[in-house]
Amino acid sequence: MIIQPRIRGFICTTAHPEGCARNVREQVEYVRGRGAIEGLPKRVLVLGCSTGYGLASRIVTTFAGGARTIGVSFEKPPAETKTASAGWYNNRAFEQEARSAGYDALTIEGDAFSDEVKRQVVEAIRVEFGQIDLLIYSMAAPARTHPRTGELQRSAIKPLGEAVRLKTLNTDKAEVYEAEIQPATDEEAQATVAVMGGEDWGMWIDALEVAGMLARDFRTFNYTYLGSELTWPIYWQGTLGKAKEDVDRTAAALRERLGPDTARVVALKAAVTQASSAIPVVPLYGTVLFAVMKQMGLHEGCIEQIDRLFRTRFAWTSETDEAGRLRLDDWELSVPVQAEVLRRWPLLSTETLGSLADLEEYRTQFLRLFGFGLAGVDFHKDADPMSVPALA
Ligand code: NAD
Repeated sequence: MIIQPRIRGFICTTAHPEGCARNVREQVEYVRGRGAIEGLPKRVLVLGCSTGYGLASRIVTTFAGGARTIGVSFEKPPAETKTASAGWYNNRAFEQEARSAGYDALTIEGDAFSDEVKRQVVEAIRVEFGQIDLLIYSMAAPARTHPRTGELQRSAIKPLGEAVRLKTLNTDKAEVYEAEIQPATDEEAQATVAVMGGEDWGMWIDALEVAGMLARDFRTFNYTYLGSELTWPIYWQGTLGKAKEDVDRTAAALRERLGPDTARVVALKAAVTQASSAIPVVPLYGTVLFAVMKQMGLHEGCIEQIDRLFRTRFAWTSETDEAGRLRLDDWELSVPVQAEVLRRWPLLSTETLGSLADLEEYRTQFLRLFGFGLAGVDFHKDADPMSVPALA
């Protein structure tokens, strides 16, 4: 079938197998080009491994660190007439890349919030690795069925307390407009913490600890976003911020239990991913941020951020902020970058978008998430949705 992007709001319902494979290949090549990193853990578990920051983490630990990995993600497999989720193709492409370079790569697709998937992973670690050295928690989910109560909870990306009016972007129509977002109810706020907070991370560590699978120098990372005053009203001061505060609390509790530097929250920069596209304001903020950071020679996507994380912040002695987080959002939040973003913000409108922001970069990055728009792929050619072709 001919596979073209089919965009519905902030998601694309199709994905291109060869395009996804190219996207993975380009990230692998970037990391290889930067050279090996000495001293990285060799047995790595990545939760949320198939896209965005989790995929980048799996690629860097494998191709720069020489790790064997187990990845977990939630995917839609393909059918004869329907494409799979992009993450399904990315997982197959990653496995091909890793295995052909001699690295073990096992992927378990299912609901990482469930006890069943935790059991499967524990069993796989027992058979494959014995123990693990590093767990990366890079999950971003819209909903979670609680493994104890069976309750299905949905996250809501909303402000707390009162409604906020925010400038935002319709990425299809290239229109800037003001939106009023109503505050979350208490129930919505609690559900968002249940889905995106630290409880499941803690449950993973518990399951691995009980099974005796935490290696002597075990460490774990969980990713967060702090953002700037432009995103605070919808993010850090809203329901998601509450969830991320809960992740910070979980990290502190894990450090108490497992040792001072074992568990770290890592603050990363705003990047175009499936999860971030769904957050109001973030796409508009991102288009301005990308324009400014590119002009200043500081632009980074997921792979560049995670490569920098492992190259420059992995040492046990790495500096942390007052909450014990590793900070990779330092360039985004630097004074010159934020001053320029803030200068442009009030001037932003549908008319000025072209000169003040970089919507093209945003759209290109968004399409790439689903394997579209990559050089070297003929998108008019018949493609088999059932598998990922081996690249030359
Ligand atoms: P993403 O949408 O690209 O990836 C989410 C991953 O979670 C996917 O692999 C998906 O399959 C997996 N997943 C979702 N539900 C699952 C389930 N039930 N079971 C198993 N796997 C499941 O998201 P992302 O933007 O890379 O986000 C990863 C982390 O990085 C999040 O904690 C996010 O807050 C953080 N972060 C993102 C940004 C950003 O701008 N994108 C910035 C800073 C921090």
